[in-house]
Parts: sequence; structure tokens; C-alpha cells
Amino acid sequence: MSQLFGAIEAGGTKFVCAVGSGPGDIRAESRFPTTTPGETIAQAIAFFQEQELLHGPLQAIGISAFGPIDPHPKSPTFGTITTTPKLAWQHTPIVGMIRQHFDLPIGFDTDVNGAALGEHHWGAAQGLDTFVYLTIGTGIGGGGMVGGRLIHGLMHPEMGHMYVPHDWDRDPFPGVCPFHGDCLEGLANGPALEARWGTKGESFAPDHEAWLLEAHYLALGLVNIITILSPQRIILGGGVMGQPHIFPLIHREVRHQLKGYIQMAEMEKAIDSYIVPPGLGSQAGVLGSIALAKEALKG
Ligand code: ADP
Ligand code: ZN
Repeated sequence: MSQLFGAIEAGGTKFVCAVGSGPGDIRAESRFPTTTPGETIAQAIAFFQEQELLHGPLQAIGISAFGPIDPHPKSPTFGTITTTPKLAWQHTPIVGMIRQHFDLPIGFDTDVNGAALGEHHWGAAQGLDTFVYLTIGTGIGGGGMVGGRLIHGLMHPEMGHMYVPHDWDRDPFPGVCPFHGDCLEGLANGPALEARWGTKGESFAPDHEAWLLEAHYLALGLVNIITILSPQRIILGGGVMGQPHIFPLIHREVRHQLKGYIQMAEMEKAIDSYIVPPGLGSQAGVLGSIALAKEALKG
């Protein structure tokens, strides 16, 4: 019998829970809005308890969460969502709350490190040891691996909050980040698109000028990531990347902004297989949490 894992993709607007063992073996999935920690985590626990009755015991659980979080197993606050701007969720010990009901190995990481691990196991980052997964949705977040290990450090990367050059003449929009205003997230997340142009990203025509500016900012961010980490590939996910036509714009802008400095095929002829959508599509998040559970079981 195959192993069975529980997965929680804890997002700022919704939770997605699943049980299964990998692509092609998701036995059940449940989605519900992120309300208060007490209510939402209780729904996740109830879902896993129901599924255990149907399918048998879980071997491990993986949680990938919006953050900031404490991902360090030796830290006294391991397993908590820490200083999130979602006030009701500040200092929520999500791993501890799940562990009260499931005495199992629990893997815990950021949503983007989780998705990166899933892509490494089964998606667009198979066989790579240094790559980045960037999501562009309600926020912008980046995770990934360096040298075969998920990137942690003092905490974990917060790539969305890097500053990028902001030409106020071309774009007088001040940005929406509550901390920094015009950081990358403040200029290029879904809410920034909506606030700048007055329409949600999903409603723009492919030839709307919004996409050129969006590709410009994302490319500035990607050039910073490329020059700092030298990733072997960059995966771009999240709601805003639901616009396939934006990939060629980003490829062109990244090449333009690098100005020929990095002479690798990946930056020239092969850039369309260097900056790519998730191999796991919209399942990257939940499969990433299953991958976190598998790793937690290995110890
Ligand atoms: P979240 O970041 O909350 O997990 P998403 O990744 O779906 O969720 O991102 C939601 C944001 O992406 C919203 O600002 C929404 O307007 C925008 N968005 C969703 N779908 C699209 C689309 N097809 N094209 C452009 N923007 C989109
Ligand atoms: Zn910011």
C-alpha cells in the first residue's frame, strides 16, 4: 500500500488541504477560506480525521504557509506564523496546533519553499540543485534551493520586498506595500495592478499596456535574483502568471536588462526554458506540502 500524507497549503485568503502521496494520487482535497486560526485550523484537523477513517492513518503532514514564519526546528518558536500583517494570525503556532491531534512528523516551510520542493520532486525543477520559485499573486514571494537545500537563513527569503528602480515619470503609482510602498511586491503584485489601472488583472486584454510595465518590474526583480543566486532555472507561479502571454515579455525584458553580461545559453537562445511556469500547474502548492511531509518522514 502506498504511503499517505496530509498536506496543508495555508494561504492568506484560503486553505487547501489534501491527502495523497504525489501527482496522480490525491485522494481528497478540501478548500475553505482563511478566517481565524482557531476556526480554520480546526477545519483542517476535521478534514484529516475524516480522511483517516476512509483511507487509513497518515504517515506525516506537510504545511506550507504564508509568512513570515519560523522554519527552524531547533527554535522555541518553530512552527509558528510570526509577524504577519494578517493580525489575527500573528504568532500562531500552527504546527503545535496540528500536532495536538496528530502525533506525526510534520514538515513546515513557506508557501514558496513548499512549492519549490514540489517542483523539485515532480515538476519543472527536477534534477536541479539551485533554482528559484517566485509567486506573483496577492503578494510576491520567492523560495527555492541552493546546493540542493531549501533556502533558509536568519529566517527565509522575502524576495518580493526587494527594491527595484522605480521611474516615477513613467509610473507615478506609489505602490501598495504597507511596509515599503514601492518595493517589487508593492509595484507588481495583483493588488498593485488593480489599484494602478482600476481593473483586476484577470480582466485586462493581453495587449493592455499594464503587461509591459508588469513584465518590466518582474524582469528587474529576476535580474537581481539571477545576479545574486545564479539559479539554474526560475519558476514563476501565482494568479498573475495565469496570463501566458506575459512570459515572452518577461523573457525579452530580462535579456534586455542583463545587457549581455551573463553569456550563458540560458540567458540567450534558451531563455524560454529558463524562466518557466510551474510544471505542476495550480497543484504546485498542495503537492509541495506533500513533498514537505515526505521529507519530514525521512527525518
Ligand atoms: P493568493 O496570492 O491569494 O494565494 P493568487 O495567486 O490567485 O492567490 O493571486 C491572486 C491575485 O492574482 C489577485 O490580485 C488577482 O486579481 C490576480 N489574478 C488572479 N488570476 C489572474 C489572472 N488570470 N490574470 C491576472 N491576474 C490574476
Ligand atoms: Zn514591501
